[in-house]
Amino acid sequence: LFIEDSLPGSGLIDLDKGQTHYLANVMRVTEGTRINLFNGRDGEWQCLVTHASRKSVSLLVEEKVRDQKTEPDVWLVFAPIKKARIDFMAQKATELGASKLIPLLTARTNTDRVKVDRLALNAIEAAEQCERLNVPEVTEPIKFKTLMEEWPSERRIMFCDEMRNAESAIHALPKGSPPPPWAIFIGPEGGFDDRERETLAAQEGCVSVSLGPRILRADTAAMAALSLWQATLGD
Ligand code: SAM
Repeated sequence: LFIEDSLPGSGLIDLDKGQTHYLANVMRVTEGTRINLFNGRDGEWQCLVTHASRKSVSLLVEEKVRDQKTEPDVWLVFAPIKKARIDFMAQKATELGASKLIPLLTARTNTDRVKVDRLALNAIEAAEQCERLNVPEVTEPIKFKTLMEEWPSERRIMFCDEMRNAESAIHALPKGSPPPPWAIFIGPEGGFDDRERETLAAQEGCVSVSLGPRILRADTAAMAALSLWQATLGD
């Protein structure tokens, strides 16, 4: 279970209403049950349920079961898509190890309203399910121009470009361990426009990558790109 508090904290852990409801009424924990907590900073800790009722659950921190480890750092920068698919994208990107999710407003983005809180909840649930020890940050939507004006030069760009001929993408990514920080760029349904493509290609260290000869939906492309990146550079 993900919590914001420090671990191990002072013995007893206070859960918020949602977490109490989840443990008491969904997981139906009882006194003596053991559950594991993580907060993205202090590793994973085993806790004992010392009290459980429909309204409240108390946990006593017992021992650390996993250390926090630094993971390869890859952002997913994606043009927002329709509601159901963007939730799916947030879940899959979390399972596939994205360290940050950045909704990108491009010239052809047709959805500029993004429910960041909902995406963040999707990311927390996906992190709990896949037993990650951290949760990717979901940022507010940002304009392409703004993001590129302040782009961190040490972060390399994997530009997923459906216009590129489908050479083997695996070889397009330079090896190196540990890899520098990276960001995967996925365009909107209408694709990046020419100016955006030029801006991306002009970034030092940008690698344009084909994900094959077919035009993938943006959420499919995000999963394919993250899988490719993790297989080549990640863990
Ligand atoms: N411009 C495309 C078209 O002609 O219909 C549509 C863009 S596609 C739906 C959305 C995004 O997914 C693209 O901007 C690109 O980033 C990524 N993408 C889709 N298929 C791809 C492929 N075969 N190779 C690389 N990227 C791809």
